Amino acid sequence: LKKLYPMRTVYLNGEYVLEKDAKVSIFDRAFLFADAVYEVTTVLKGKLVDFDNHMKRLKRSMKELHFEPTLNEKNILKFHRELIKLNNLEEGVIYLQVSRGVAERDFAFPKETELTVSAFTQKKDLVENKSAQKGISVITIEDLRWKRCDIKTIQLLYPSMAKSEALRQGADDAWMTQNNYVMEGSSNNAWIIRGKTIYTRQTDNLILSGVTRAAILSVAEELGYKVIFKQFTTQEAESADEAFVTSATTFVTAVVKINNHRIKDGKPGVFTQELRKAYIKQALKTLK
Ligand code: PMP
Repeated sequence: LKKLYPMRTVYLNGEYVLEKDAKVSIFDRAFLFADAVYEVTTVLKGKLVDFDNHMKRLKRSMKELHFEPTLNEKNILKFHRELIKLNNLEEGVIYLQVSRGVAERDFAFPKETELTVSAFTQKKDLVENKSAQKGISVITIEDLRWKRCDIKTIQLLYPSMAKSEALRQGADDAWMTQNNYVMEGSSNNAWIIRGKTIYTRQTDNLILSGVTRAAILSVAEELGYKVIFKQFTTQEAESADEAFVTSATTFVTAVVKINNHRIKDGKPGVFTQELRKAYIKQALKTLK
């Protein structure tokens, strides 16, 4: 950890402090109940990608959990920019977490808590990325998460188990399935291509509506692809012409192996590469 990230300055409840000095109560509901939501926003060229859409989703997550709507978007933008500056971040992400706050332990939502707001930077090579160049392998695994995956909560233990199981089996990530239908990746949306048609699952309460997914949809349309919003089976994925994942940290990253099935020649497909390139170009237009 130390090597990757020398002592950062992080944000906590209105203050900029060294990461070693950022302290949160053990009674914080994030700590006791995972009662918190988050966003991960990409930073390219020292600026924020698609910030407005991340804020939109954050507000929705908070509303669904009946958080006090006391967050000020202008202020969030301000401390995101400040963190970029204080940590000299050129490329990477900003992790933002909003917890319901501190209260005596009780299952019922407490009244009028003050939100705990924290954020930190992570430096990452996103554009020139090894996984994206080679493509990744995924396993499929039963989706045992709760049924409100549309809310971006920090309750991420099952995706964490799924990803760890993938690594244990020598793969890079896991696609979670219900009744043999692919829902999404452990921390990304899942897509396949057959011919020049792209398939992605419809969004509802069972998957997260990705900010990157939405951007890819407009990029795909501009490039003349046909997109079908329909869930696909594990076997349909295994026999697809191309497959890929999307997220704020992976952009568009090819999936070249699903379970024991190589996707086509085992290299990132041409359409996937075209989408990745076009997505990055369009992301650079949203910088804030
Ligand atoms: N699905 C899940 C379960 C995720 O955790 C993520 C990333 N947070 C995504 C999809 C992709 O969302 P986004 O494009 O907004 O990063």
